[in-house]
Amino acid sequence: MIPFIDLAAQRARLGQPLEDAILKVVRSGAYIMGPEIGQFEAALSAFGQAPFALSCGSGTEALVLPLMAWGIGPGDAVFCPAFTFAATAEVMPLVGAAPVFVDVLHDTYNIDPAKLDAAIEAVKAEGRLTPRAIIAVDLFGQPADYPALAAIARKHGLKLIADSAQGFGCTLDGKHPIHWADLTTTSFFPAKPLGCYGDGGAVLCKDARLHDLLVSLRVHGQAVKSDLEGRTFEHDPKYLNMRVGMNSRMDTIQAAVLLQKLAIFPDEIEARGRVAARYAEGLGDVVRPPSVIAGGVSVWAQYVIETDDRDGLAAHLRAEQIPTAVYYPVPLHQQAPYAHYPAPGGLPVTEAAAGRVLALPMHAYLEPDVQDRIVTAIRNYVKKNG
Ligand SMILES: *Cc1c(COP(=O)(O)O)cnc(C)c1O
Repeated sequence: MIPFIDLAAQRARLGQPLEDAILKVVRSGAYIMGPEIGQFEAALSAFGQAPFALSCGSGTEALVLPLMAWGIGPGDAVFCPAFTFAATAEVMPLVGAAPVFVDVLHDTYNIDPAKLDAAIEAVKAEGRLTPRAIIAVDLFGQPADYPALAAIARKHGLKLIADSAQGFGCTLDGKHPIHWADLTTTSFFPAKPLGCYGDGGAVLCKDARLHDLLVSLRVHGQAVKSDLEGRTFEHDPKYLNMRVGMNSRMDTIQAAVLLQKLAIFPDEIEARGRVAARYAEGLGDVVRPPSVIAGGVSVWAQYVIETDDRDGLAAHLRAEQIPTAVYYPVPLHQQAPYAHYPAPGGLPVTEAAAGRVLALPMHAYLEPDVQDRIVTAIRNYVKKNG
């Protein structure tokens, strides 16, 4: 099998400095909140065009922390797509709130702003849940329609989160999603475009007070600067807990890995773009290739095509030693834990896409000759089977 994502090629490129960076942490003993954490957060905020970046335990916890910070809970509605990874919607029940599912645009698979507005109106009219926030997803690597989404969030007084676990590094008109969103979250799960060697995540935000609150929530609601101002203590305020938080620290070793990977990430994004362009050129006339929003730059977490005979094509490619994957075969509103949550107006675009999508091998180290083999195999199958 050729690799679906080639982390070994990336590791070979990073070479000895990566291994030295890991060993340095091992030898230092600063396994938790070592100096690499602050260095990585500074590098991440510079890269992500955001004043503040907070590392945390995973992309899922990166979504939980802001919901906790805003006090979103029972009786509250948070709007999100159902054509996404489970974590996007899972975090609402985790804090006691309800996800409200909204259909996506067929072109980009990202949340449909017109349908979002209608869903918010429907929930308001029903009066059972209070709309609080929107979680837009940068699915498969490309930015959602943030100018439209930000206008809707403003109109209804809602918070806007960019779940950029797949799209971290994507831009729209040269700007990162944080330009429009209240905050961006991402995941450093190894297979994401910017991944570490375990679990990890981050929240990028613009508001100092919110960042302070997230710092506190990340470590059990510990007292932070704004809590301590003007107070004196007879004990170490380190063990003063101001609110219920959690443990969502990133390991120092992961920050050391990410510092190395972030340095080559812009170059990798360009390489992914070249791979996507080569697929589009080779496949555009035989399958439905992905389309990116006008002004958008995708980081191509996945390269997803659509065909009528998805399963037949996948079997043919497997026989040719070419792996594929289906993201996502069953949309969240059709899965047991989420089926009872609202999906006003239904999700016909989501449901149709789920039966047709197929992701092809995609990574920055996909060589042209290997990619040509994939393209040829797809063309042969489509020609033979109409
Ligand atoms: C991967 C992913 C997450 C969750 O990230 P973890 O680090 O695995 O917790 C959240 N949202 C989306 C869209 C994802 O793809």
